[in-house]
Amino acid sequence: MEFSDFGLDRKIMSTVEHLGFNKPTEIQQQAIPAAMTGQDLIASSKTGSGKTLAFIIPAMQRLMKNRPLSKRDPRVVILTPTRELAKQVFNQLRIFTAGSQFKAVLILGGENFNDQVKTLAKDPHFIVATPGRLADHLTQRHFHLNGLELLILDEADRMLDLGFAEQLNQINQAADHRKRQTLMFSATLDHAQVNDFALALLKKPKRIAIGSAH
Ligand code: ADP
Ligand code: MG
Repeated sequence: MEFSDFGLDRKIMSTVEHLGFNKPTEIQQQAIPAAMTGQDLIASSKTGSGKTLAFIIPAMQRLMKNRPLSKRDPRVVILTPTRELAKQVFNQLRIFTAGSQFKAVLILGGENFNDQVKTLAKDPHFIVATPGRLADHLTQRHFHLNGLELLILDEADRMLDLGFAEQLNQINQAADHRKRQTLMFSATLDHAQVNDFALALLKKPKRIAIGSAH
């Protein structure tokens, strides 16, 4: 299978070519077309298997294809367990949003709160964040999630291990479920809390497990 088999927007294809990736990895081969159907996913594959593009590519495709439901609310939120991971995801995302109409911002714990309030007031299309700080801004109504189209939980198992369940629930509840798609990625699906969370957050999710008996 090739990237050209997914029916992606031309700009996305040219970014993938620019990155020099010839072939989608296994998780990308399964998760990209599944996510593009609009269904919820719970997906696992090992570290280094290319999960970041497995969600960035369908997220970009969705935004380029769909008319905005809301002008002001973020359309895609990507949550990661740590600041370092959030930065890595943000850097990958920016390669795709560069030169597009889409604005992406990074909201991390430990950084200046008031600067982030100003950043959120600029109505970004994408937010990449760590859950604690994003939940704080949500509590203080510095942004809303009424127009959210896509919620992505990267390394959901680690976020739960780090004690972010309450913040994830808060973010989940603030976003309209009817028009929202949720993609959950995890290194493993053999994690009881991940499965409980999937039941609570995902609608009839498709399960994709690469390199596992499950
Ligand atoms: P994971 O999130 O599963 O740990 P990453 O998304 O961080 O993995 O990707 C690991 C590395 O593989 C990164 O350096 C990324 O740029 C590279 N990569 C991603 N997709 C491909 C691909 N289709 N072909 C070659 N390399 C890729
Ligand atoms: Mg990753």
